Amino acid sequence: MDTYASFYQRSIQDRDAFWAEQAELIDWHVKPKQICDYSQPPFANWFVGGQTNVCHNAVDRHVTSRGDQPALIYVSTETGQEVTYTFAQLSDEVQRMAAIMQSLGVKQGDRVLIYLPMIAEAAFAMLACVRIGAIHSVVFGGFASHSLATRIDDASPVLIISADAGSRGGKVVPYKPLLDEAMTLSQHKPSAVLMVDRGLAPFTSLPARDHDYAALRQQHLNARVPCVWLDAAHPSYTLYTSGTTGKPKGVQRDTAGYTVALAASMQHIFQGQPGEVYFSTSDIGWVVGHSYIIYGPLIAGMATLMYEGLPTRPHGGVWWELVEKYQVTHMFSAPTAVRVLKKQDPALLSTYDISSLKALYLAGEPLDEPTAQWIADGLGKPIIDNYWQTETGWPILTVANGVQTMPSKFGSPGVPMYGFNVKLLDDNTGEELTGAQEKGVVVIEGPLPPGCLQTLWGDDERFVKTYWQSVPGRLVYSTFDWGVRDEDGYFYILGRTDDVINVAGHRLGTREIEESISSHPNVAEVAVVGVADALKGQAAMAFVVAKDASALGDAAARLKLEGEIMKLVDSQLGAVARPSRVLFLSLLPKTRSGKLLRRAIQAVCENRDPGDLTTMDDPTPLQQIKEQLV
Ligand code: AMP
Repeated sequence: MDTYASFYQRSIQDRDAFWAEQAELIDWHVKPKQICDYSQPPFANWFVGGQTNVCHNAVDRHVTSRGDQPALIYVSTETGQEVTYTFAQLSDEVQRMAAIMQSLGVKQGDRVLIYLPMIAEAAFAMLACVRIGAIHSVVFGGFASHSLATRIDDASPVLIISADAGSRGGKVVPYKPLLDEAMTLSQHKPSAVLMVDRGLAPFTSLPARDHDYAALRQQHLNARVPCVWLDAAHPSYTLYTSGTTGKPKGVQRDTAGYTVALAASMQHIFQGQPGEVYFSTSDIGWVVGHSYIIYGPLIAGMATLMYEGLPTRPHGGVWWELVEKYQVTHMFSAPTAVRVLKKQDPALLSTYDISSLKALYLAGEPLDEPTAQWIADGLGKPIIDNYWQTETGWPILTVANGVQTMPSKFGSPGVPMYGFNVKLLDDNTGEELTGAQEKGVVVIEGPLPPGCLQTLWGDDERFVKTYWQSVPGRLVYSTFDWGVRDEDGYFYILGRTDDVINVAGHRLGTREIEESISSHPNVAEVAVVGVADALKGQAAMAFVVAKDASALGDAAARLKLEGEIMKLVDSQLGAVARPSRVLFLSLLPKTRSGKLLRRAIQAVCENRDPGDLTTMDDPTPLQQIKEQLV
């Protein structure tokens, strides 16, 4: 690994020269005067004095050289829609969308909240925002009114872009009623809503506020809206993610650092070339959707395949059929999706001609060896695990085959990527652990490389406190993951150090779910714990102490209350956050000093030894959990 080792060393030791070279991968209106200003740690300011535009790099610069090549391939197996937009056509659509946004009062620096299913208009909207310097905030379509309202209040958008409905497994999922409810719940009231009417679900419009996208698009068919040259540090977008408190965190990204980071990752990690086709099965509501459905592939001049639908419908080989049809070269998905495919006929993996495919990248949650082996055998292609976070925007750990062909090891996402000065620290003493197989917290020494979060939206203090002050005496960025390193420097991720859980690759804060469940009138106390799940990696389980438990001796009554609680979470947060089960206890298992014994609950649910329980106040609740699980 000499080549990569020296590439990596240079990125840390000769940081500015390294990133000045990477900056050559993008177009600049004004070149940066300084590569990194880290005079006020932990705030890193990349490419100071430079001016550029994300949309210019993702779309416009390709129009001249490859305007008639595919840029966005949109496929919906839900509606049967299949459209390919060339770079020239994508540019036209983005400019129409930008003109519509301007006509609705959006200016540089304003926030635009995007609450859309996987439709091409979502890509137009994101690109239109960065084109004119508006800051988009995409909210995952699976989130419901309460989650949406918190995000509306935090981002205070001028405009919300939404649709009548999404569709999942052939079932229409209306969006507009959830949006209307969110806007009654939120303090902030955006002045305009732009509605994409897919003709899936009728909805009511508020005449002064709600606008029809198709009608406005018609008015702006010939719109020309130039890219606005933005200062390097101008925020490109915010994306909310869960943490240990109930309030979601608005991860804020810059303009230049993000563009350079993605361009570099497309070269060194993904080896993507113009004219190739990238298919990421994620959703635009997540960070993978931002970096590797929309921006990364387009910045590299590749076509991106955007897919609405399930991996198993109309048949379990639909992804591979798309690979054959569109000559997909790169695929990106999550282990959960592969575990879903594992239940299908394995012959479907070899039914289609997937010779165009170079590799399958997986991220978002631990990749277990049986899953990795199954898909590697079935496809006969390299399977590349990569570990990162919403906060970092691109992989922290993986293998950089674009620099040097590196072996993958099952169970390990790989080695630190260039720019990430990854360390393992003892969480008590803050001391660095350098030996093999020593377990510690995975941290990153500042400055974080380009593309990572600049701060949390509107809350510098929370940014510093949350991420940079969790290890005593050290100003380092904490990933809140446990890890170990082997003799070859490969890292293994061992789970979160905090109360964040990972369900099907989706990061959820247990506190948020607990707050929602607590709002049920018959809930006195609740704990939500992540428990191992064969399909989803983890499942959220809720443990509830009822206010009035008199009726709960009866199984039917318990089932009824469980149903009510699940419905409540569905309507407030969305089905992604719904607990897989709700168990009723007479009290929660706590220590004598009142600390909830999460690990013990988890162990009992996973049929493991709960360990030392001498500090436990009362063993009854663990017994009650065992009884209800059988
Ligand atoms: P998110 O910000 O939603 O992408 O979640 C990030 C978290 O997901 C990380 O902090 C890890 O706990 C987990 N994660 C992401 N990718 C991997 C991976 N390849 N292996 C193990 N855990 C992962």
